[in-house]
Amino acid sequence: MTTNNTAWHVIKFGGTSVSTRSNWDTIAKIVKRKRAKGFNVFVVHSAVSTVSNRLEQLIQLAIAGEHEVAFKELVELHQQLIEQLEVSQSLLDDEYRYLKRLLDGINLLGEVSDRIRALIMAQGELWATKIGAQYLSSQLEDKLLWVDAREYLSANRQSQNDYLAAGCDCDLDESLLQHIGNNPVIITQGFIASNQEGDTVLLGRGGSDTSAAYFAAKTGADRLEIWTDVPGIFTANPNQVQNARLLNHLNYDEAQEMASAGAKVLHPRAIRPAQLSNIPIYIRSTIDSELAGTQIHHFDNRWGMVKAITAKNGITLISMESQGMWQQAGFLADMFAVFKKHQVSVDLVSTSETNVTVSLDSLTQVVSERRLKNLVDELSTICRVNVMKNCSAVSIVGQNVRAILHKIAPAFSIFETYKVYLLSQAASDLNLTFVIDDEHCDKVIAALHELLISNNPNSEILGPTAKELKKPLEREVLSEKWWQKRRADIELCLESRENAYIYNLSAVKDNISALKSISAVDQIFFAVKANNHPQVLTTAFQQGIGFETVSIYEVETVLEMFPDISKERIFFTPNFASRIEYEKALDYGVMLSLDSSYPLKKWSETFANKSIFLRVDPNIGKGHHENVRTAGATSKFGIPIQEIEQLLPIIKENNIKVVGLHAHAGSGILTNEHWAEHAKLLAEVASQFSEVKFLNLGGGFGIKERAQQTELTMEQINQSLQAVKAQYPQYQLWIEPGRYIVANTGVLVAKATQVKQKQNYYYVGINTGMNSLMRPALYGSYHPIVNFSRLSETKKHLATVVGPICESTDKLGIEIPFPDTFEGDLILIENAGAYGHVMSTHYNMRAPAEEVCIP
Ligand SMILES: *Cc1c(COP(=O)(O)O)cnc(C)c1O
Repeated sequence: MTTNNTAWHVIKFGGTSVSTRSNWDTIAKIVKRKRAKGFNVFVVHSAVSTVSNRLEQLIQLAIAGEHEVAFKELVELHQQLIEQLEVSQSLLDDEYRYLKRLLDGINLLGEVSDRIRALIMAQGELWATKIGAQYLSSQLEDKLLWVDAREYLSANRQSQNDYLAAGCDCDLDESLLQHIGNNPVIITQGFIASNQEGDTVLLGRGGSDTSAAYFAAKTGADRLEIWTDVPGIFTANPNQVQNARLLNHLNYDEAQEMASAGAKVLHPRAIRPAQLSNIPIYIRSTIDSELAGTQIHHFDNRWGMVKAITAKNGITLISMESQGMWQQAGFLADMFAVFKKHQVSVDLVSTSETNVTVSLDSLTQVVSERRLKNLVDELSTICRVNVMKNCSAVSIVGQNVRAILHKIAPAFSIFETYKVYLLSQAASDLNLTFVIDDEHCDKVIAALHELLISNNPNSEILGPTAKELKKPLEREVLSEKWWQKRRADIELCLESRENAYIYNLSAVKDNISALKSISAVDQIFFAVKANNHPQVLTTAFQQGIGFETVSIYEVETVLEMFPDISKERIFFTPNFASRIEYEKALDYGVMLSLDSSYPLKKWSETFANKSIFLRVDPNIGKGHHENVRTAGATSKFGIPIQEIEQLLPIIKENNIKVVGLHAHAGSGILTNEHWAEHAKLLAEVASQFSEVKFLNLGGGFGIKERAQQTELTMEQINQSLQAVKAQYPQYQLWIEPGRYIVANTGVLVAKATQVKQKQNYYYVGINTGMNSLMRPALYGSYHPIVNFSRLSETKKHLATVVGPICESTDKLGIEIPFPDTFEGDLILIENAGAYGHVMSTHYNMRAPAEEVCIP
């Protein structure tokens, strides 16, 4: 019976998106793109911007007979668009005359019914879609059909008499599908429907979103796209919170919560119809139509991650105190009866033994001063009433907020400074709301956002900030990854293996070359602990760089592999090692860095007449995770700067030569100026020593792991280091990166073992896990993961990729967009070249993935 089996995309545009020629060109582009991919397109749009307000005014003016001028302006506005779009001049002539007659009629009667009001308001949508349909027809090769929405959207039983805010049923509609037949592009109106009498009814303000959702449900669409002029839904208002991030995913309930809390991007009533038919909603931007936007769909926010901090301002609180409330049966009923009588609706409620506090929401209802006073007067007869105006309700939104109460404990400390009048947790467990003074609102939002969202572990759910989005060009240059070009090599490796670490040696060279472009640096040392594969070490050696080592075994490995290496190319920086390692290092003649006073104080004779480095604690730990920060009081590394002075006598007595200073503050640093800061700091400390020649600024060079991060720029690092060098030309500058040289040169590839769907959790099991790659379990670190066998397939799931190890932390990635996955698929984990295999274990007696190098 269904007239076609092509998938529909319902796309909705608001008033600002249909008001100019360039808007319409964007719409045409979007429609063409969808057609090219084989989708049928159902366009739903609003009246031209400002038209709904103008129509409302016209009705008022008509009652007084003063509508002539405003009517002409309205016609003019549409004629201008008609001219811009070069559609037929007389297209709307009949429509204009019809509206004029209606307005004159109102003038005659001196009043207007809801029925006529709805009919007049509907003209805006009807006119705009007629213009749009003619223009789109001229732009598309496909046949286009204009549909009167009122023929297919009919008010449901509950809202038969509601002309201004009706609701509709939205089951799959065979007659609609039949009517639209083989027309691959449909255009229709938002906002309007009809009732059983055939009268025009409206779906309430913002009803176009709802119309689009109804049509999506009726056509059984693949997706519903709401096109706006913002990139999507953010974790907070980006105008208020600079670091607010785009939400890549929301589930329906969370979206509902946010829409109701005033996120203006989507009308709250539009969500339910899509949810019932399980149609994903995409919020997209006409300004940047490449952007995926926010996807609202069905998935469990199982970790109770906070999705957003929202705020409603202008809240009024009414606090009611009664002495013996707990004894007084029916007190609440009496109290709420008063609210009912004065028709004041209540938003939040909190109760204690002697106090009930409620909030009035300015968003849903404006309560006049008079009405408020009457209400308060009557309430005062049953209890003591206190009214607080100018409050804000700040909400922490996310499914399962209860599950994260422990995590948000630190957030509560901000409320030591700001008084909370009311706290409420939604029974749906979707929000936690605090009512505070308006004036503190911005500060509280910023603080909560910082604590609960900006500091969040890496998650696919959070996208870029608004500022990052303003650089769309940069974002687009997602250059192809090396492993995409080396498919044959990778598949070959996996023919004879169940899983493998694959290292690309030419990529190692490229990374070293990039570092060499920092001309201010005199020597680069590769941190061996990041990856000690012989071929990787050989590649580094051939590039002429040195080795940074942290155990005597690493030193010995390098010496054995490269017997002729100059000892100045081996830098040894042990931490809490036993005395013998220091003695051996001195015997070998490699560069030795002491990171504690203890060896100097207790074993001073070992170092007598020797040259050493001192590793100072730069005091500010940096890095991608607490556990990789290697500076600051809580870190076990380095000598505090203030302690250096005490060492001077020992150094002098034993004729120890401090030839260099050293600092390393952590891993994964993406601040270009970081190493220059170290250089300045070390240069200052160096003034206490006459023989210092080398300043080793440490490693920690981070790599870009996710789209929204800004990469290090070698030029900028160089510039900042050159500046220090100009000031302290007497020192050579060294660096000792590990991750930067190898991380993106390695991938871990494993085969899918099983897929398990548990409620809405999509688990993809692979045949190796934390025994091969420990970083996600150890640091919660993020590694992009792809189904290498199905790179181009639609990503339908937010998968949890897990290994076979019997530990619940054996997860390699969470919320990873993934296609349908099958046993035997190759799953590829990126950025596994650093701290991957070197940290692997045989836990569960499962051998970690083997290493394979490709040239
Ligand atoms: C681990 C380590 C490095 C390398 O760190 P990356 O983050 O891999 O660059 C450099 N120096 C010291 C002292 C280290 O311990």
